[in-house]
Amino acid sequence: MEKVVIIGSGCAGWTAALYAARAQLKPLVITGRQPGGLLTTTTIVENYPGFPQGIDGYELMQAMQKQAERFGARAQFGAVESADVCKEPFLLTVDGETIQTETIIIASGAGHKHLGLESEHRLENKGVTYCATCDGALPVFRNQPLIVVGGGDSACEEAMFLTRFGSVVYLVHRRDNLRASKIMAERALAHAKIKPIWDSVVTEVLDVKQDKITGVRLKNLKTEKETLLDCAGVFVAIGHIPNTQIFRGVIDMDDAGYIIPKRGSVTNVPGVFVAGDCADRVYRQAVTAAGLGCAAAIDVERYLAARNE
Ligand code: NAP
Repeated sequence: MEKVVIIGSGCAGWTAALYAARAQLKPLVITGRQPGGLLTTTTIVENYPGFPQGIDGYELMQAMQKQAERFGARAQFGAVESADVCKEPFLLTVDGETIQTETIIIASGAGHKHLGLESEHRLENKGVTYCATCDGALPVFRNQPLIVVGGGDSACEEAMFLTRFGSVVYLVHRRDNLRASKIMAERALAHAKIKPIWDSVVTEVLDVKQDKITGVRLKNLKTEKETLLDCAGVFVAIGHIPNTQIFRGVIDMDDAGYIIPKRGSVTNVPGVFVAGDCADRVYRQAVTAAGLGCAAAIDVERYLAARNE
């Protein structure tokens, strides 16, 4: 029987693991299908304190894992398929194997939001992608016009990254100003290769018949006018959806799936705690996720100590 299982291996998960390991709880971290979480898909992280020159996202996550493992945390690759938290011990099914545990920290983060177009779905991985750092360097995108959809920090970051490969990067946003932080927005808009297309949405990714991307159909939301734009790749960066589906109906969450803690990291089920992006629709930063992971581990330690008294 485990004392604590941490679901997720992003900033929240590994920081929770570090604190739980130092409290001698020997935490088991279930990594999910993307070990290290979303940060491993970014290039340079410039706003994590302690790294004046920035740090590569993948490197930062490797360092967090090593630090937690040094104190006895263990990692198991896999995804939690189901969770039974109605009675104790809690039961988690990970790739067919059942794990029993006294407590759980849900730090499962968030996944990429999709546009919801049939053509987007059909051309996913054939030119439609959700991660420029993962796919941007593919030969099919080299010296070709590319499109990034979105107006937040992710969209600006993706567009900047893609300027290394594409001939031009169109930033398609549904409003006429970016949601991104001022520094990111200014950097993106000042780049000679980045061309914003305001007030517009992608209504179709072309061309499903050819089974490859030739362009997109755009609609200007102010004029209602539709236009076609040639491109070789569509990079969707329109935000995230919390990875909390397996807890729906059991753990309190809002309509979008963000877990609502009762206080701190404590959920409505005693012994189940939450940390990071899956419970945070406001800040969603690496450093806030790490802080919430720390808080959840401390809450677990106190909960177990109180039970044993
Ligand atoms: P976000 O801030 O939620 O921005 C999502 C963008 O996509 C918004 O501009 C939104 O438009 C647009 N959008 C949403 N749904 C859409 C749809 N169906 N069709 C078209 N456009 C749609 O998400 P994010 O950029 O991924 O950032 C998430 C968090 O991570 C933020 O807190 C951000 O600061 C942080 N982040 C930080 C960094 C960094 O500092 N290095 C890098 C990446 C992310 P509206 O503006 O109209 O809502």
